[in-house]
Parts: sequence; structure tokens; C-alpha cells
Amino acid sequence: MNVDHFSLRSIKMITRIIDENSIKRAKALIDNAQRIVIVCHTSPDGDAIGSSLAAASVFTAIGKTTNVVIPDQALFYLKGLPGAKEMVDAMRYPDFAAELINGADLIVCLDFNEFSRTARLADVLRNSKAPKILIDHHIGPDMDAEVVISHPEMAATAYLLFRFFCRLELFNFIDRDAAECLLAGMMTDTGNFSYNCNDAELYIVEAELIRKGADKNKLYRMLFNTQSAHCLRLNAYAILKKMEVFHDYGGALITLSRDELNRFHYTRGDTEGLVNRPLAIPGIEFCAFMRQETDMVRVSMRSVGDFSVKDVCAEYFGGGGHLNAAGGEFYGTLEDAAALFRSILPKISRKKHK
Ligand code: MN
Repeated sequence: MNVDHFSLRSIKMITRIIDENSIKRAKALIDNAQRIVIVCHTSPDGDAIGSSLAAASVFTAIGKTTNVVIPDQALFYLKGLPGAKEMVDAMRYPDFAAELINGADLIVCLDFNEFSRTARLADVLRNSKAPKILIDHHIGPDMDAEVVISHPEMAATAYLLFRFFCRLELFNFIDRDAAECLLAGMMTDTGNFSYNCNDAELYIVEAELIRKGADKNKLYRMLFNTQSAHCLRLNAYAILKKMEVFHDYGGALITLSRDELNRFHYTRGDTEGLVNRPLAIPGIEFCAFMRQETDMVRVSMRSVGDFSVKDVCAEYFGGGGHLNAAGGEFYGTLEDAAALFRSILPKISRKKHK
């Protein structure tokens, strides 16, 4: 591998966290494959899409026929990422998506830990005979794959994927576009390097991606500062009128009903980040955001420190996720979901409130 001197030194500083055996087996699978399909989770975010597009770019660069199949549409602003227009949306083209998966010699699963997270693709993936490589950072992977590279301590799948490529000696095949996609993934899952970001090596990787030409200024605007007027008003309304702060318990809640969402012409992604806002209040260490959907209430939770919203979501909302970022669902009215949250406050709170 002919990597320039400076980058070579940087890459050598990166800890080799992926075990050698996984690298060897993944390399053999990739070498033997001609048609590679990359899949990610439903409602794909910047890390899922960024990782998928970067992987597609690298695999294409080494001569593979590569397709990215997504379970459903990505948020509109992610469509600005290089290569995004070539992705196959399984919601719009279910037959084509299944055909690609069934015709693959290798399936690379990115940014999810079980098939059910791919929604409508889950059965096709389960039934496919192609070997699979999973590269992910969610806790507790539970799926049939020949190679499982699972590192929950990694802030983003894109970050883990960069390490994976380096270990496969594919650093030089990460071009400017792939670098931009990887950086988008890392920025997404760290809130532009604002949380989950006390990992010095993140910045070595970030520097290498920028050296490859990734435009972080452009990505910041694309990922974090693109909002319609309706969206801005919806978020302002949610905080002004719908935020409940429970100082005694260190918690907060925001709910939005269907009517409220419609009033502000809600489109998917408009409430992205809203759930984090109450954590700005001193003393608030966990919060929930509940959004009424057609048949259920979508619950998102965030926390700071070692407060586990993953456990709360698993116990009360049939969900899961990460320690500080988790989600679930509630089948019932929005009022009942909110009432449940208020009722569990004394149990889940760690504050002394006698
Ligand atoms: Mn991720």
C-alpha cells in the first residue's frame, strides 16, 4: 500500500481494535465476492447512509459490483451525500431490492444489530444464502453473520468502518466522496463531535478524512443547520408549550400530537434533535420525546452520564438502543404514554426525592 508518509504515521497511531481473525475472514469473503449488497437500518440516519455510501464507494473502487439497499427513504438532506442517488429504496422498489439481495455473493450489514432493524428487508435478509459481514456499534448484536465486527465503544459505524478499511489496506481506496460520507457518519452520531467524543482517535480519523478532501464546513450545514421555517416554528412551539420539566427527578418530557405536527406541516426529520434540548437544563439528566404516529406513539429518550435510557426504553417501551440514546414504542394514546412516563419518574430517577 502506497500511503503518503504523514497519513501512514497517523494510521499507525490508531489502535487495532478489530481482531485479526475477523479481518482475515472478512477479507476472504470480500475477495471471493463479485456482487456486494450493502444494507442499513430503517429510517436511515447520517451514520447508516454515510457508512453505506462509503463502503459502496470503496468496494466499487476495488472492482466489485456494489449496490446499497435501504429499507426506506433517507432524510432529505442526506440525499446531498455523494452517491446517495444510486441507493435502492426498498419501500419504492421492493422487488428490485429483493432481487439485488438474492443475487448478492456477499451482504455487508452496517449500523444495525439485528435483522428486525431493517424492517421490510428482514425476511429477505434472513432467507438469503449469501455470507454476511456485520459492522456495527450497537450493543448486543443478534444475527446470523459469518463475520460480526461489533464495537459499541465506537462512536459511529462510519468510524469503525474507517478502521476496517485501514486494516484491509484499503486506505488509498477511500476517495474524497467516501471520506465525506464517513465524516458525515461520524458527525451525525457524535452531534458534530459534541457527545460520545472523548476518544482521541476520533480526531486522527477526522483529520485523515479532511486531508482526503471531505468538506466539513459543507457537511455541518447539511447535517446540522438545514431547517425549514415550519420546522423551526415546530421546535420552538414544542419547547415553549409542550416541554415539561421535572426538576425533582432530573427528567423532562416533550410530547407532540398528530394535530400539532400537522399544524406545522411536519415532515420526517423535523423533530430530529428536539429530544436532546432539555438536557441543556442544569440538573436534567434524562428526557423523553413522544411523537404520535398513526398507530402508536414513538418514544425517544436521551440521557447524560451513566444514566441508562436503554434500560428504561427496554422495560417500559419495548425498545432499546444505546446507554445515552434509546427509543421505543407505546401502543395507546399520547396521553397514556405521557402518563406512564410521569408515573415511572420516581422509579427511574436517581435523585433523592423524599
Ligand atoms: Mn450509528
